Amino acid sequence: MSWTEERIEKLKSLWGSGKTAAEIAEELGGVTRNAVIGKANRLGLSAKSSTTAAPKAKKKVVPAHRACQWPIGHPGEPDFHFCSDESVPGKPYCLKHCNMAYQSRDNN
Ligand SMILES: [Zn+2]
Repeated sequence: MSWTEERIEKLKSLWGSGKTAAEIAEELGGVTRNAVIGKANRLGLSAKSSTTAAPKAKKKVVPAHRACQWPIGHPGEPDFHFCSDESVPGKPYCLKHCNMAYQSRDNN
């Protein structure tokens, strides 16, 4: 199936209404939840949750104790959460996610 103008408009309005990607996929029919998320990302619909920004930007919603702030899943999804392992002193992430964060930065 393809993303027609009509389907894209429907995706936008459903997304804006706060439905989950799974619910939107069901409403549209013929698409998977992942396809909906991928399309929404390309349309910039999830920008309000700053999926494109560095994970560091999420600092404000993390509790004061030292928990890894690496986001897991997609903001707005029911299963979205932070890693929450104990972070490396002076870093926002646990050792594993520090490695991932600083490695990908080097590669870019
Ligand atoms: Zn982590």
